[in-house]
Amino acid sequence: MTHENSQTTSPETEKMTKKEREAACILCGKCVSVCPVYLATKQEELAPKAKQRTIAALKENKQKLHVTDCNKLAEMCVSCGKCAQTCPQGLNFPQQLATMRAKHSGWRQWVWNRWVNQGSVLWPMLSTLSKAAPDSKGKNEASRFVQSIQAMQPPVDIPQYISVAQYDTELANGQSVLLFSGCTANRVQKSWKQKSEAILTNLGYQLVSAKGLTCCGLTLDHAGVPDAAHKSRMQNLRAWRAAERPLLVTFCATCYLGLAEYAHDDSLDWAEGEQEAWTNALRPLSTLWGDSLFTVDVPANLFIRYHQPCHWHGKDADFTWLKEVLYDEVSKPDSASCCGMGGIAQLGNRKLTRKVATRCWDNLLQQPPKKDDSVPCYSKPMGNCLCDLYDEEDEDAPELCDAVTPEYLIVTGCSGCTLQLRGTAPEHSGKKVKVGHWLDILAP
Ligand code: SF4
Ligand code: SF4
Repeated sequence: MTHENSQTTSPETEKMTKKEREAACILCGKCVSVCPVYLATKQEELAPKAKQRTIAALKENKQKLHVTDCNKLAEMCVSCGKCAQTCPQGLNFPQQLATMRAKHSGWRQWVWNRWVNQGSVLWPMLSTLSKAAPDSKGKNEASRFVQSIQAMQPPVDIPQYISVAQYDTELANGQSVLLFSGCTANRVQKSWKQKSEAILTNLGYQLVSAKGLTCCGLTLDHAGVPDAAHKSRMQNLRAWRAAERPLLVTFCATCYLGLAEYAHDDSLDWAEGEQEAWTNALRPLSTLWGDSLFTVDVPANLFIRYHQPCHWHGKDADFTWLKEVLYDEVSKPDSASCCGMGGIAQLGNRKLTRKVATRCWDNLLQQPPKKDDSVPCYSKPMGNCLCDLYDEEDEDAPELCDAVTPEYLIVTGCSGCTLQLRGTAPEHSGKKVKVGHWLDILAP
């Protein structure tokens, strides 16, 4: 239990500089209202401000700092970064946590490092093996683990509702592009990479070889493996330089954030002006369409709901583009909920990440706005079907009513969110809700 007014001043606190005191938590509580772990559990001790105080206490009592304490704390955070975005004091709890994890690493860091760095062998192998798992429909931990692994398999049942009718090639103007596909697309969702390459080529960009690119390093850093993260960053920086500093394009919100953070990392051997050039070169794929034209064919009974990845930090280029193309055919909840992916938290506290995911699903499947008043009958189970106005025997009653079952499709713009949502998807109207990256519903 945290008593906010019972702080005692330790000798270490007295020695704090003015800058450090200014950067201390003022218990304003702003981070509490955005933290998905707190919102899913309502446990005060899991809110970022309580965790900040625990970290501060651990720092002041170094002799009591134990690897078990660090791991327990680390398991209570899914590294969404929302608290850091909100904190008026500029406190970055996930970064503090990463530093602490790095100093007190254990088996989870070891596993995570190998999971990321040897994923080209492990991920496809596990994904294939999971198909043969005896029961992946249950709710016990083993079944849920199998569901998470099965989520890596490419979707086979998502139609391509958007087709490109005409590419706008003016924006490209023959520029070179280095496509940063990220670990998931390179290893288990290769169609995302292939489609992105086709889109960029059709838009008139010159694709340069992505050989040499590796993990963006973000999850390695958050997991507390900073040396491996630094090595990945340096390798990517060298690959960009070798390609003569072209545009750097990605279709994953987490990769985008990971790459954007390079410019603030002075430990990389930047040349004069290179950090700014890096920032200017980095683009989300969905911002490159220019005035391209699309055709859209979405069934009346389908609700496309958009999941906003936390790592876009509110500036979501993908939803802006999807809305321009799909208009009312796509909607998103009033407030974004974290999917609970959480990187290393999946290794330590899967129950907690599930709770976060459940809240996210409740949010995504809440009643979406009505799509089109001219369509009489697509939303009966949501309670606003026009057929309810007619008697069953009424000859004028619309015919669609019993034939149409509403379906949900969740799309997003982050590789990690796609896998997490696919692995936790519930059933709706007797069918498992489909989940895809926006690239999955596009025919280039
Ligand atoms: S990073 Fe996200 S989950 Fe972790 S404490 Fe901050 S808001 Fe909560
Ligand atoms: S937002 Fe920052 S200052 Fe406010 S309670 Fe959270 S950590 Fe403390």
